[in-house]
Amino acid sequence: MPSRTGRDVHTPGSPARKRGDHGLSIIVPCFNEAKNLPGVHGRLVETAQKLWAQRGLRIEVVYIDDGSRDNTYAVACGLPAANLDVQVLSLSRNFGKEAALTAGLHHARHGALLFMDGDGQHSPDLIERLVSHWLDDGYDVIYMAKANRKSEPISRRVMAKVFYALINFRARYKLPHDAGDFRLLSPRAANALRQMPERNRFFKGMASWIGFRQLRVDYEPVARAHGETNWNIASLIGLSIEGLTSFSVAPLRVASLLGLILASIALIFGASILYETLVYGKQVPGYPSMAVGLMVLGGVQLIMIGVMGEYIGKILSEQKARPVYFVADHHTRNADESAHDNASQRATRPDAAE
Ligand code: UDP
Ligand code: MG
Repeated sequence: MPSRTGRDVHTPGSPARKRGDHGLSIIVPCFNEAKNLPGVHGRLVETAQKLWAQRGLRIEVVYIDDGSRDNTYAVACGLPAANLDVQVLSLSRNFGKEAALTAGLHHARHGALLFMDGDGQHSPDLIERLVSHWLDDGYDVIYMAKANRKSEPISRRVMAKVFYALINFRARYKLPHDAGDFRLLSPRAANALRQMPERNRFFKGMASWIGFRQLRVDYEPVARAHGETNWNIASLIGLSIEGLTSFSVAPLRVASLLGLILASIALIFGASILYETLVYGKQVPGYPSMAVGLMVLGGVQLIMIGVMGEYIGKILSEQKARPVYFVADHHTRNADESAHDNASQRATRPDAAE
């Protein structure tokens, strides 16, 4: 049973017992990454070896197969547990990246956590730098952010700008621009994240909201070696709405602000009509101005009903309190030890959403 308290769990005879008692769990969500995993794992093994030799830091990697359609689970289970412990979770279906990250958070056995993608775009070579910022400089949350978005289409860049402007609108905790899910959390930051019970998860926002000492590191994501991104413009818009509504009430505030602005304009317009009629004896302007006014108000009201609907949907799903994911299979191997498969232990994890 993995530790859910954030304390390290060590296996008898494991190197950590002899060298040190601190460790790092690397959480890697995978959806159809069978071709990418061996390459990523090879580099993680090298990094684990260095970190063990230099700092006595024990590494565990947790692969979460998020209902892949290829043989990601079989490939992950076959990866060598050399210099690092390997856990492989297979979710009962595709739940989405945020759910996969949550499964990793719940099953990680070490205090400190590192989240990275399984497609090789988050270079394992940067892990040493992140660890150094954590152990040497004392930072709690070290997040990698895209240095620039020059390679992205203009539509995506504009969308990102609008998204950050909205989510940070009058917010006390500003979400850093262009931060991805590649980040390291110290044990106390990881514990804070574990205490957040919401079902509608938005990791980027949550990891920044917890506070502690945060550090931004700019980087250039590497190109995908195999396969293609799981995000298109429609799913990105969906993710942005999800992030916005599960993390901020800014859209509701914008609604109030818009209502206030429109009401003020209507008042001024009404006053000017009254003035012109009374002073100059002008006729009241005809129906075009009325039609425009009605359409603007009708449109704005419908948009705002939609925005409120999003929040009501969130309240419903939080109130239902369903687990965020179910684990179908779970495979654990400790470094330098023979594999033991505890797939039979449980088909689902009733405590998954604790
Ligand atoms: N991913 C996942 N579940 C999904 C979609 C994606 O676990 O439903 C994983 C995917 O395997 C990868 C990471 O999330 O490791 C990022 O996905 P992707 O590369 O498609 O996104 P991008 O890098 O283009 O933002
Ligand atoms: Mg990617």
